[in-house]
Amino acid sequence: MTALACHDLTVGYGDGAPVIDGLTLELGQGDVVALLGANGAGKTTLLRALTGLVPTRSGRVELGGRELARLSTEERVRRGLALVPEGRSVVVELTVDENLRLGGLWRHKHKARKAAVEEMYALFEPLARRRDAAGHTLSGGERQMLALARALLARPDVLLLDEPSLGLAPQVTAQLLGVLRESAARTGLTVLLAEQNVTSALSVAARGVVLSLGSVVADRSAPELAADPALRHAYLGF
Ligand code: ATP
Repeated sequence: MTALACHDLTVGYGDGAPVIDGLTLELGQGDVVALLGANGAGKTTLLRALTGLVPTRSGRVELGGRELARLSTEERVRRGLALVPEGRSVVVELTVDENLRLGGLWRHKHKARKAAVEEMYALFEPLARRRDAAGHTLSGGERQMLALARALLARPDVLLLDEPSLGLAPQVTAQLLGVLRESAARTGLTVLLAEQNVTSALSVAARGVVLSLGSVVADRSAPELAADPALRHAYLGF
């Protein structure tokens, strides 16, 4: 079943040239797909357009086969889409526990809310050890874990992640993406992971999509992409 799709999507800012240019992409349920591309390729813009944070000029976006283009961001989130934007958005004045409880507020039953937060602590052990720590005292890795845990608390069907590895040490990135992979495999979550860190992204994704100037220039299995030096050199800068 197709979890998320966009067809012939065109997105731009103001009167400028399109940043996403007639892009078509499909993710099946449970797929973990890396969205790759050099700086400025359009990865963030695509994630923001899928979420409704940037208006689309033309084309369709579908979640579970239902058209989203006219829906607000809030409505898309309600239908199962979640975005973890670049920059580890957590409320720094609140503790880890308060941040998580805030993420679970949409659940009406107190018991279910508590259980969901405990589930996140089991998944992200470093957060469990820091549950009473204020957001501003967390390391970059802990903040990114908290941002991811908050998104997972909403039990989304499709999770969009923008550059989670940015500024993190390689072991921290590996730990974070390991938890993401485990969680996706267990729950059937569909993930679109925008990354400039190609090696990390392809270690967790089964498939990679390479963007250049807002268009898809390659859509292949992760091992195939990892083993294609010409493609890597042309579009990914190494
Ligand atoms: P990065 O990895 O650097 O975030 P990216 O692949 O995510 O790159 P985008 O951030 O989507 O790329 O940017 C794609 C293009 O859109 C760039 O040329 C950028 O300058 C332009 N752009 C991004 N945001 C805006 C904006 N708010 N207004 C105008 N142009 C923008």
